[in-house]
Amino acid sequence: MDSKYSADFIDEPLIHQYLRETADLPREEIEGIIAKAGDAKGLTPREVAALIQLEDKELLDKVFNTALAIKQKIYGKRLVLFAPLYISSYCVNDCVYCGYHCSGDAVRKKLTMDEIREEVEAIEELGHKRIMLDMGEDPVRTPIEYVLEAMKTIYATIKDNGAIRRINVQIAATTVEEYKMLKAAGIGTYVLFEETFHRETYAKMHPKGPKRNYDWHTTALLRAMEGGIDDVGTGVLYGLYDYHFEVVAQMLSIRHQEEVFGVGPHTISVPRMRMANEVDLHKFPYLVNDDQFKKIVAVLRLAVPYTGMIISTREEPAYRDQIIDLGISQMSSGSCVGIGGYKKHLEAIRKGKQEGAPDNTPQFDVGDHRTPDEILRHICESGYIPSYCTACYRKGRTGDRFMSLAKTGQIQNTCQPNALLTLKEYLMDYATPETRAIGEKAIVEHLKDITNPKIRDLTIQELKKIETGTRDLYF
Ligand code: SF4
Ligand code: SF4
Repeated sequence: MDSKYSADFIDEPLIHQYLRETADLPREEIEGIIAKAGDAKGLTPREVAALIQLEDKELLDKVFNTALAIKQKIYGKRLVLFAPLYISSYCVNDCVYCGYHCSGDAVRKKLTMDEIREEVEAIEELGHKRIMLDMGEDPVRTPIEYVLEAMKTIYATIKDNGAIRRINVQIAATTVEEYKMLKAAGIGTYVLFEETFHRETYAKMHPKGPKRNYDWHTTALLRAMEGGIDDVGTGVLYGLYDYHFEVVAQMLSIRHQEEVFGVGPHTISVPRMRMANEVDLHKFPYLVNDDQFKKIVAVLRLAVPYTGMIISTREEPAYRDQIIDLGISQMSSGSCVGIGGYKKHLEAIRKGKQEGAPDNTPQFDVGDHRTPDEILRHICESGYIPSYCTACYRKGRTGDRFMSLAKTGQIQNTCQPNALLTLKEYLMDYATPETRAIGEKAIVEHLKDITNPKIRDLTIQELKKIETGTRDLYF
């Protein structure tokens, strides 16, 4: 497939030049870059190259503290939760880092619409309102029509007070025409991980299948935007190639998107290589350790302060907490990364077990095995507000409309109250008694942080309506 867009914006000599020029900058210059980042206006790719190479502990602490301050200033205390839903593990690609690679022995499964309905009911009973729909690439078994029907089924599945209010979609790179179809079906964010921006590594990691085409894959988000999808999500799979290169390349891709469409990505995901079926981590020389990964998250937070950052259940709970402080605004919770796992998961929780494994192969190993209720309780205890908010997409606050609100800080007037309203819904409908008590206390505490008295009063009124049975209230 040929794209009218070129992937030349990933200018490898320029990336190496930036890394070379900034490898040993004077301390004052680095401090100047960190101070500039503190104004939450973002950084240039060259400045990012300087920060991502830092090893000095004192300077790194400054980077971490600045990331924390930016996160609190822009995102406040809310942490948006979602559930990934894998609907098919059939795949014609042979990505060497993935449990679904086509030459592997993964047990394959594709959900029928009835099975999707059952899965969504289970996800709703776990309290979720937002799904990330995910699947392998197989144009014959799972063409775009299958995805569109799945989205229709998901939006139409209502279990008691539950409903999925936003479906983000993570499927293979496709054509402008198919992106238009996804838009018409009510997609929230279209997410595509570039995996690695490094062309030679990309070729090694993708020996077979349509995903082998670097240019087609790397320009997919531009086609998605041309197809009318305002909110797109990007991400590198850290561990495939040198993270210094990847972070600067990520910046070049964001800048290019801003130049072409006037708005950058809505989210950046930061997945890290995990064990998976028939994937041997020893064969990956660029794995990033915990300290390097913290640096990646913090530098990205400084570089693009208004872009949401997503972490998955790949990370262990204690480490996830540290990363959240550095700039994460969204995370998956209680994830099943096999096909059709949620129904079993819910049944297991009801029997007092922590989780029920699906009877097929997961795409990667999960590091956080807590139930959504346990995660939500922990978030409240950590001083954050778990949020199931989907308001912006439903109010038409997407693309550049969203970015202008984010950049003026006005988005806080909606994020904080909406987080409290959706938390209240969760507590009324799904929480265990222990979580409910902790959550109610958290609501009282966080109401105080709403500085505008009119919005605070309105939020209190809406919270009361939820207590008497009204649902789906948002600003
Ligand atoms: Fe298929 Fe995606 Fe896995 Fe590659 S990463 S093998 S495209 S499911
Ligand atoms: Fe996200 Fe908008 Fe809700 Fe804030 S108000 S949490 S930006 S959907």
